[in-house]
Amino acid sequence: MAQNLAIPSRLCLAPGPSPVPFRVRQAMANPVIGHLDPAFLAIVDAVQQDLRDVFGTANRVTLPVSGTGSAGMEMSLTNFVEPGDTVVVIRQGVFGQRMAEAAEKLGAQVVAVDIPWGQICSLEELSRVLAAHPQVRLVAVVMAETSTGVYQPLDGWAERIHAAGALFLVDTVTALGGIPVEVDRQGFDIVFSGTQKCLSAPPGLAPFTVNERALERLSRRQHPVPSWYLDLLQIREYWGNARLYHHTAPISMIYGLKEALTIIQEEGLTARYRRHRQVAESLWAGLEAMGLELMVPRTHRLTTVTTVKIPDGIEDRVVRQRLLNEAGIEIAGGLGQWAGKIWRIGVMGEGADISHMMRLLVELRRILHDLGMPLPSGVEALEAQYVAWERESSEWRAG
Ligand SMILES: *Cc1c(COP(=O)(O)O)cnc(C)c1O
Repeated sequence: MAQNLAIPSRLCLAPGPSPVPFRVRQAMANPVIGHLDPAFLAIVDAVQQDLRDVFGTANRVTLPVSGTGSAGMEMSLTNFVEPGDTVVVIRQGVFGQRMAEAAEKLGAQVVAVDIPWGQICSLEELSRVLAAHPQVRLVAVVMAETSTGVYQPLDGWAERIHAAGALFLVDTVTALGGIPVEVDRQGFDIVFSGTQKCLSAPPGLAPFTVNERALERLSRRQHPVPSWYLDLLQIREYWGNARLYHHTAPISMIYGLKEALTIIQEEGLTARYRRHRQVAESLWAGLEAMGLELMVPRTHRLTTVTTVKIPDGIEDRVVRQRLLNEAGIEIAGGLGQWAGKIWRIGVMGEGADISHMMRLLVELRRILHDLGMPLPSGVEALEAQYVAWERESSEWRAG
């Protein structure tokens, strides 16, 4: 007898995957055609151009890597790191740690810059590290650290990194489509992202872009790229003009990504970033009115992931299980040193919606009340913040 594997109805408010709009799911249900069919290649072209638009770049080599965000990370490191290279990695959370590990596997001399969780790396700290390691070849940093909820400002970084003769690699997985990523203006050389965070497509592709400076480094490698699947010199033969087969493009995923990018175009990037900020600030107001404590100071708090301290005496798992079972809402627990201590709420893409946050606050308060922790309501504060923003937004739209 067939098992019942029906998919329940869920509100995905963990920091990925975020809710996927019906239009994207519908696009993925289209017939599969060949990856060299001119009709499909037209979609490929359009996806590449749309990705340039969200990345804020004119980079020729802009494409979705087959695989999740981590495949984008491997692509970024595998092609641009050689054994013995000095690679500086800013380690201010789980995803910085992951890049350090991946670079080590490639035989790099990794200089990990440890930043206490919840804090940012200053420009002074970066300059100090660069001065101490004059042979540095690459600097890697996470713009939006999903494990802590920290936004890492990167103004002035490119100038210093380029002056030191290094390439600048940026993880924009939890940023792209939710907060401004301006690859050309910010001087990023190698950039990767993922589809299931603020782009609101399913997991499975990793948007990626590199500039000529990085490609020049690639063309002068001493050692062959130590991966067959993620060899950019091969892959760009499909994504460039030659359209040569390397591996089969994940057709349906690309249909989905195209639709997600069309939705982003329709909304407009500036409006989209504003929506993320409006909904995040409303959520913060609501959580704080309930008496809950946010982990990251406002000055460098990410709008796309909110990290909340779990109140004393409350068990992480119990609350998250009840939210899922009783309300169909998924939020995430902490990772690494913050496991069991925090909750992480994604305000990403389709998830950045005031009614979703209202539902979450109501259900969270009900469950905490049941567990012997009566809290004030956060809904009025959330609403007030939202309305204040709405007034400003209508002026912004009119002006
Ligand atoms: C989610 C995430 C990744 C990894 O992406 P996967 O799709 O899970 O492979 C990398 N970096 C950051 C900052 C992320 O949030």
